[in-house]
Amino acid sequence: MSAAGWMSVNVDKCFHCGACVGSCPQNAIYLAEVIIEFNDKCNRCARCVHLCPVGAITMEAKK
Ligand code: SF4
Ligand code: SF4
Repeated sequence: MSAAGWMSVNVDKCFHCGACVGSCPQNAIYLAEVIIEFNDKCNRCARCVHLCPVGAITMEAKK
């Protein structure tokens, strides 16, 4: 499955807590070895962006 290119995670901020993984209604986030990764089921709801306690997730505006 390919990654959702509009989502990104700041490697320096993310501490791998996993909170975003459980919060995603689309199951589009999963814990990878070092950070998190996204799949294309992401529907841009932005829940994870607001939920992350350290603000590590950002979403690019739709082009
Ligand atoms: S909620 Fe934030 S800190 Fe926790 S795993 Fe997700 S991106 Fe990383
Ligand atoms: S924006 Fe919404 S659908 Fe996309 S990864 Fe975050 S919580 Fe999941």
